[in-house]
Amino acid sequence: AIDKEALDVVLITGPPGGGKGTLSKRLKKEFNFSHLSSGDILRSHMEEHTPLGEKAKAYVEAGDLVPDELMVDLIMHEVFEQSGRVLLDGFPRTLPQAKALEDKIEIDFVLNLEVPQEEIVERISDRWIHQHSGRMYSYAFNPPKEEGKDDETGEPLTRRADDEPDKVRHRLDMYMEVTYPLLAHYEEKGILYSFSGENHPELVRQNRRSDAIYTDLKALVQSKLE
Ligand code: ATP
Ligand code: MG
Repeated sequence: AIDKEALDVVLITGPPGGGKGTLSKRLKKEFNFSHLSSGDILRSHMEEHTPLGEKAKAYVEAGDLVPDELMVDLIMHEVFEQSGRVLLDGFPRTLPQAKALEDKIEIDFVLNLEVPQEEIVERISDRWIHQHSGRMYSYAFNPPKEEGKDDETGEPLTRRADDEPDKVRHRLDMYMEVTYPLLAHYEEKGILYSFSGENHPELVRQNRRSDAIYTDLKALVQSKLE
């Protein structure tokens, strides 16, 4: 049997390239969350050529959503392996996924990142990754020490296939159409908290929206977990 009470589940949601991964890592460190990222889990299956990875690959690379049946089994299985605080990043993204999650588990609260579309496209076009570790770089804000190479391993940096401009536009459209409407549901339940960075105009002007958002995220999470 599953002991729902043993888990504190927090969702982090927002548009593709909105900084979920980066902010989740900071929250994980600060509050000792287990961080479950549906995108990272899928990419590691793809890299290891598991049957699930083989099934998901074409969808992910095209910037399409992976079918709900696959996602629900995969993520629910991972969630129940955890105990303590779980930060769920990138799931649920559709109404059937949200229903499947709610059937099994109580969500404590939802952190929603609001990032303007222009900023997303700009950020993603400058996103470089070290595939194996998931370390991310950007020449504008967080450049590698040596051009094109990972700081720790010296291995080459690559781009995600779904970070090409036409795929990004498709991911944004899917987000607006399918995922964004879920927010109304969490709002109605009174568990939605949205963050834009606008309380920190100076940081936003300096293109440091993630830092601005983090300040507010941290304060909210702290108050909720007390
Ligand atoms: P970022 O990584 O910058 O936050 P993102 O949210 O688009 O951007 P991921 O969350 O890493 O990226 O997801 C990458 C891809 O994995 C998605 O475009 C989709 O193909 C697939 N995917 C991830 N989570 C789900 C989900 N819950 N349902 C369906 N497909 C998913
Ligand atoms: Mg991600």
